[in-house]
Amino acid sequence: MTLVTSHAALTDIGLQRRTNEDSYVAAPPLFAVCDGMGGAEAGEVASSLAAETLTARVAAGDSVAEAARAANDAVYARATERVEESGMGTTLTAVTIEDGHGRFAHVGDSRAYLFREGSLQLLSQDHSLVGELVREGRLTWDEAAAHPQRSILSRALGTEPGVEVDEFSVELRAGDVLLLCSDGLSGDLPAEVLREHLSAADPAEAAAGLVAAARAAGGHDNITAVVVRLDEAEPAAGGDTAPMPAVAAPSPPAAEPAAAPPAAEGGEVAAATQAGEPGPEEAAPAGPADAGARTAGPDGDASGRAPDAGGPSDPAAAGAARRARRRLGVLVLVLALVALVGVAGIVVVNTCYFVGEEDGQLAVFSGLPWRLGPLELNSVYLRTARSYATLDPTQRELVDARRVRTKGGALRLAEDLGMLP
Ligand code: MN
Repeated sequence: MTLVTSHAALTDIGLQRRTNEDSYVAAPPLFAVCDGMGGAEAGEVASSLAAETLTARVAAGDSVAEAARAANDAVYARATERVEESGMGTTLTAVTIEDGHGRFAHVGDSRAYLFREGSLQLLSQDHSLVGELVREGRLTWDEAAAHPQRSILSRALGTEPGVEVDEFSVELRAGDVLLLCSDGLSGDLPAEVLREHLSAADPAEAAAGLVAAARAAGGHDNITAVVVRLDEAEPAAGGDTAPMPAVAAPSPPAAEPAAAPPAAEGGEVAAATQAGEPGPEEAAPAGPADAGARTAGPDGDASGRAPDAGGPSDPAAAGAARRARRRLGVLVLVLALVALVGVAGIVVVNTCYFVGEEDGQLAVFSGLPWRLGPLELNSVYLRTARSYATLDPTQRELVDARRVRTKGGALRLAEDLGMLP
């Protein structure tokens, strides 16, 4: 019996991260999920470089495990080349499906599941601190899922010159469904929910449902799902090749349901932007009160602008010259307002600091701990080597509060928290 695959793959930034550091491969017979880690953009670099290397090496004839080791070398080499990417790494959970077998290579805490005849089996072992504790019988799965240090990996790809890759193989049957996913999916969803969505006959529907469910459960992390279904080849329909085009087809529609929530979010963002950020320029003639409120009271401006704003539509205007003068007045006011907003922004960025967490590491930020639509009102001022996970609950509370402080105040807190060398 010949098995053919159909698949769908989706990745989603989730609801709480600023970037998506997950990557996936859906290039039959190879499928993979990589979840990157590292400061700044390094996590994205690590996961995409691992995915690319894996794909290239499997295409060149390597086994999936050999290709995973090559990916380790590529990520490690790149991390040692650039200071800003040092220490980056990624998970990698990959499978090639050939001759009725799934051959897996696995490092990290992304997961591979087999859904067969209604039951779900976890095929991979989490290479994480809590995963080790569960295997040693010191934690239950439920305790692990809520553990503050659940994201600490005990093994990752690209962080060392060599890596131990878990290799295993599963004989597949018609009707089997494989799920590869990042911890943003498995960490937010109980097994029943995975089962429920994987029972959908269409991989695109399963992947979209899983991603939507993880978002609904909080979307705490980037979410990636690769769903592969195995079916018996139809003897008359051209066998292996026939289902493959059908494979490619479900993917774009699959993107829609999952893209819909982010798009909706994007819509809100766009709306927030219109109402907020360019407001000072655009809103001044149309919505003076709004613009005035946002600039923290430009005093006389608001009252001065009100009659002017009414000016152009005033039917009793006495002459073209006066109208022109008024327009000029409005223009000057608008420009002054824009300048004020700019100055206020610069003042805020240079006087407001707070201590927060980015990608698990503690950092001192300058600016305000908010975002305005797509506009982040802060930037990292000082990155530190101390991770959030090492804080005790009281310290965490201090960080979680993201209270705005002076530069000195923020640095003092950083020192108290042991963030500074
Ligand atoms: Mn993750």
